[in-house]
Amino acid sequence: MGTSDIVKFEALSPAEFFRRNREIAGFSNPTRAIYQAIRELVENSLDATETFKILPSIKIYIDYANQSRSWVSIYVEDNGIGIPNDEIPNVFGRVFYSSKYRIKQHRGIFGLGAKMVVLYAQSTTNTPILVRSAPLRSDVIYEYQLMIDITKNEPVIVSQRILENRYGWHGTAIKVVLEGDWSKAKRRVEEYLRRTAMVAPYAEFMLRGPDEDDAIKIPRVTTKMPDPPREGLPHPKSVDVELIKQLIQKNPNTPLLEFLTENFDGVGEAIAKKFIDFVGLQSDMPVGKLMNDELVNFVTKMREFNEWRRPRADWLSPIGEDILAEGVKFVLRPEIVFTVTRKPSSYMGNPFIVEAALAWGGAIEPSDNPIIYRFANKVPLIYDEGNDVVRKIVDEIDWTQYKVKFPAPMAVVVHICSTKIPYASAGKEAIAEVPEIENEVRNAVREVARKLRLYITRKEKEQELLMKYAIFSMYAEEVINALSYVSKADPNELRSSINALIREKLRIRSLEDLLTNHAVEGNENSDSNEDQKHEPSS
Ligand code: ADP
Ligand code: MG
Repeated sequence: MGTSDIVKFEALSPAEFFRRNREIAGFSNPTRAIYQAIRELVENSLDATETFKILPSIKIYIDYANQSRSWVSIYVEDNGIGIPNDEIPNVFGRVFYSSKYRIKQHRGIFGLGAKMVVLYAQSTTNTPILVRSAPLRSDVIYEYQLMIDITKNEPVIVSQRILENRYGWHGTAIKVVLEGDWSKAKRRVEEYLRRTAMVAPYAEFMLRGPDEDDAIKIPRVTTKMPDPPREGLPHPKSVDVELIKQLIQKNPNTPLLEFLTENFDGVGEAIAKKFIDFVGLQSDMPVGKLMNDELVNFVTKMREFNEWRRPRADWLSPIGEDILAEGVKFVLRPEIVFTVTRKPSSYMGNPFIVEAALAWGGAIEPSDNPIIYRFANKVPLIYDEGNDVVRKIVDEIDWTQYKVKFPAPMAVVVHICSTKIPYASAGKEAIAEVPEIENEVRNAVREVARKLRLYITRKEKEQELLMKYAIFSMYAEEVINALSYVSKADPNELRSSINALIREKLRIRSLEDLLTNHAVEGNENSDSNEDQKHEPSS
């Protein structure tokens, strides 16, 4: 008996793989599935708007499609750039089909999210997804009903028609029916939208659920948007053998020098020549000549070589200190917020930027631990906080150095953007421990913490002054009474000159001045370039 008689071998299509393992893409149970489906659709909508400088307007309608079977219909509509007609079936019906496999910051990265929604709907309710899309300036709206042929990983067009675009609409609208538990998912979805608004205050969201009290509207609070990222080239430190092979195959006759300067980020002619010397090759050698072991050696040397320029950060789109402050202020309603956008940095050739906000007081409930809001490429991370590097760093910080005593009304917001986010798992919910990123997160949080310390110190001083002022004024009243009695002087005149005296002594102009000083808003960019070396030694 041969092996093939007792063991059966077969291939598995990507669609089938994800149908079987939907939990690794976040569709692990009916509550989570609703949250995940909405999240995937909303993130696609945000990518289709803000990346193209369109202020996002996103509508989400939820309804019970069949209450006895807990079927829920989800509708998400955006005002984005739309999808070209002939691409619509593939982007919703073929796992690993995307316009985002580029070196550039996006929310989507895997080319999977939309397909997971279709797969889940189809596996639970056997209904197709409805897609309507109109590209910019299109006279018509394309409509499809789609399913996925799971064994072939191909779209199945259930129906298709073209509608007149009477009002010049552009964007994409999706409707899908899936099994889920809306009443349980609701709070998560709302929290997700709230957090998304924190880092995208230039977007507006409308959510309407099936129940009376379900509607929420998150308005746009600013029309300022971050600059969209540009598309980039790989950095020599981030490549592997396979990528080099692919680049060589495109143009095997290219001389080595040109190959290096044209295909990689941060490689000018001078640096390229130095590198060629370092590897011991010739500048005019056609790259196609590099074979097997030479190739592996070439890539190893690329990683070892230390004179490449730092990766460029033009491929990134940080939120920016002002926009982040506006978003945090609007959502958390703190007394004050401090923000920082750090300078670009990199790990393994991938550029990244860390941003942090520290919100204090106001509507923030005091808690025994700092409340943390984590974001990666503007996507809120909600699950799996315990595994996240941000939680670790924030917990390591000795907050007493910054005059914070717990329970404290404090929230820490950390945003990491990169062309490659090192997620700790396929569920994309936590960021792995990469030393360079850890450092930057620590520096960012400390920077805003220092601003908080200054603020708390100033408030303490003001509090002290206020106390003194109150005591002085109390005694002053008695002195005024006695003086006016013996000298027959006008008590009002006495009062105003004595008050002036007190103010001069306490160096305050007026009581109102002192009181309104508490309500300082916005940022203080005072000590942004001193890093961990200058921590307070208390
Ligand atoms: P990813 O977002 O990782 O690329 P998806 O499966 O979620 O993967 O989406 C696949 C592709 O479909 C996207 O890359 C994008 O080109 C297109 N797409 C999906 N939703 C929209 C939308 N709302 N507007 C425009 N394009 C969209
Ligand atoms: Mg997506």
